[in-house]
Amino acid sequence: MSTNRLVYLDNNATTRIAPEVVESMMPCLTDYWGNPSSAYSLAIKPANLIEEARERVARLIGSDKRNIVFTSCGTESNNAAIQGALTANPMKRHVVTTAVEHSANIKFCRHLEKCGYEVTLLPVDLDGAIDFCDLQSAIRQDTAIVSIMWANNETGVLFPIEEIAAICRSNGVLFHTDAVQVAGKLPIDVQGLGVDYLSLSAHKLRAPKGIGLLYIKSGVVFSPYIMGGAQERGLRGGTENVANIVAFGKAAELALSHIEIENKQTRSLRDRLEKGVFQSIAGAVRNGGEPRLPNTSNIGFQGIEAEAALLLLDREGICASSGSACTTGSIEPSHVLQAMGVPAARSKGSLRFSLGIENTEQDVDYLLDKLPAIVERLRGASPEALA
Ligand code: PLP
Repeated sequence: MSTNRLVYLDNNATTRIAPEVVESMMPCLTDYWGNPSSAYSLAIKPANLIEEARERVARLIGSDKRNIVFTSCGTESNNAAIQGALTANPMKRHVVTTAVEHSANIKFCRHLEKCGYEVTLLPVDLDGAIDFCDLQSAIRQDTAIVSIMWANNETGVLFPIEEIAAICRSNGVLFHTDAVQVAGKLPIDVQGLGVDYLSLSAHKLRAPKGIGLLYIKSGVVFSPYIMGGAQERGLRGGTENVANIVAFGKAAELALSHIEIENKQTRSLRDRLEKGVFQSIAGAVRNGGEPRLPNTSNIGFQGIEAEAALLLLDREGICASSGSACTTGSIEPSHVLQAMGVPAARSKGSLRFSLGIENTEQDVDYLLDKLPAIVERLRGASPEALA
């Protein structure tokens, strides 16, 4: 980075920990260090703090605290929901998910296929939407679980979770949703949604990395994915990460208190960003349709390499992201944009900007000041540039 300025536009990747959250977890690292499973007084405070945090995260999603299982991250929650449903229903060996899920699902499903399970990946259209008929016809007698994300991390596109849950229910199939990108951005009411399992991750919510949760509806089958001690009512072994759990609880409380303001603020910044980009950069095209998250904008710039643009943005102190992954030196296009049928020339030049509560109009204007020249410079160096 060659500037002291930091404009962080990558809040879907992770968020800066809120000062109140840091403050809430500190006593767990100093005074309340007892093992919450122990019987003596030193253990009572951390055990109580965990239950207080459980109540707070439950409130964020409209659940009872008894339905919350703390995990190590969103990835574990997704894996645990799918594996937990399969293990609890040994006669059912089929999973339905979509082609645009986070790798926390897709890679796990690939692993399941190697273990002899069958997986159906539902396709999406150019807007990133699924067809209910495809879902209906993918569900079979031996389908153990349907797992479909609520909000796409790359495009922000929202799937109609309530309707999907209803289709699964009417077919007698368990339904899990990955709501990692929704927490703090949109209200969540697990009862109204009718989901059986739901995953969250704290670091998308201004809490530390390495803590997540799985909501499990009352009466729904679940078999522990991580086995060991009797923690989390025997549903997830391992001594609890008390400090991170407390931080998650505090972050959930904060998120709930300003969800409307954050939604309004990030939407208005996102719209300012898109308007500015479309006015100043020819051939910029938004990836993904509506409805979508208020904070996320994924834009394709034909004739550039997204990775090169990210490096030049970084030199200006701007953090953004692309959906592509670097494997063994070659850049793989985003599986999400590929599944949507976005042309390769646009997809390889696609950037994701994801706003958060800390962003300001000045941040967006700074990006709008720097980005056109960066795109122009890269197009000048590219044979595929716009004519
Ligand atoms: N699901 C989605 C939609 C995500 O965006 C992410 C993280 O980016 C995850 C799951 C994984 O969460 P974690 O980083 O806590 O494992």
